[in-house]
Amino acid sequence: MKILSVNCGSSSLKFQMYEMPEEKALISGVFERIGIDGSFYTIKINGEKIKKEAELKDHKKAFEILIDELKENKVVESLDEIKGIGHRVVQGGAYFDKTVVVTEDVIAKIDELSALAPLHNPAAIVGIRAAQAVVPNAVQTVVFDTAFHQTMEEETYLYAVPYEWYTDYKVRRYGAHGTSHKYVSLRANEILGRTNTKLITCHIGNGASISAVRDGKCINTSMGLTPNAGLIMGSRCGDIDATIVPYIMEKTKMSPKEMDTALNKQSGLLGISGVSSDSRDIEDGINKGNERCLLAQKMYVRRIIDYIAKYYVELEGCDAIIFTAGVGENSISTRREVMDGLKVLGVEVDPTSNDVRGKETLITTADSKIPCYIIPTDEEVMIARDTYALV
Ligand code: AMP
Repeated sequence: MKILSVNCGSSSLKFQMYEMPEEKALISGVFERIGIDGSFYTIKINGEKIKKEAELKDHKKAFEILIDELKENKVVESLDEIKGIGHRVVQGGAYFDKTVVVTEDVIAKIDELSALAPLHNPAAIVGIRAAQAVVPNAVQTVVFDTAFHQTMEEETYLYAVPYEWYTDYKVRRYGAHGTSHKYVSLRANEILGRTNTKLITCHIGNGASISAVRDGKCINTSMGLTPNAGLIMGSRCGDIDATIVPYIMEKTKMSPKEMDTALNKQSGLLGISGVSSDSRDIEDGINKGNERCLLAQKMYVRRIIDYIAKYYVELEGCDAIIFTAGVGENSISTRREVMDGLKVLGVEVDPTSNDVRGKETLITTADSKIPCYIIPTDEEVMIARDTYALV
């Protein structure tokens, strides 16, 4: 059965088609600059990458071209072969603790939650509407980034602010990257050969979050009401003293929107280094003796260690630590520095096996009290699995 995984941004549409239940990836691609001049798309099939320019006035047009490409490349002969389309949605609030089939009520709830994910939820709705118009017979599903974290206890997800902020404005911790944390924790359990495990999953990419997962269920995660909590990220500040916000707004006369931009786009590795939000550039800067790059990296690593230590205590031990996403899968030095900082917990890095990028690998020694693994994440296949199950 053919299932399509879709991830829509405000001007982009990423997709991957699978033959299920074999989980065989058939074709993938991304449409970019939708609704903007200079739009184009790239398609990957049979190890080949093809780039084409096309006028993409909206997401519906992108879907139409996508279907034409599927037919041209003989991935499908007719539309009816596509039985399910799974859409990634960033914010599902407290409404959704699992993947669901799209209904008008589901769309209304995603829309209602747009205030919590203003860039992402409206884009997902546009994508769902476009898919419904172009492939009307497919079952449409929505897979939420927040769903995996809905198992957290109230004392974990609440903030110690006036309770009415929670009841009136839904202010609480929701977390994000749930599909990725779920994927790598399932894979870790396969590797460990059991499901009663205590895992710390580190999704460290441009955005970054850490989760504590007991027996396959999330008990805590570092992102909060929005993705701007917890770890230091490429350009997000992560945890800070909340009073900095009104203090700087008063001093500089910044508007709430400007402050939001500063905390999300001008902070993190970029804010401290003044060089870049990309950890490769930070590594280059360190190699050239740039002190602020070194400082940014030290702060970045310290925060990751702090969260792992916190979750180790909360889980009362740990069976495995998982590194995933852009930095987690590829930055040899960041992983090594984090594991070196966990020596007190008995973590012993194996420098030879850690010298690898993007490949599932055990990167600690046989003596290490906690094994650490790289597990490349695969959010698309999780979307396909959930959608297949619902179809
Ligand atoms: P993601 O958000 O998961 O796509 O991760 C993107 C980030 O991964 C980039 O911004 C880089 O900081 C990081 N990254 C990707 N490749 C490498 C690499 N080879 N070495 C270090 N960091 C990398």
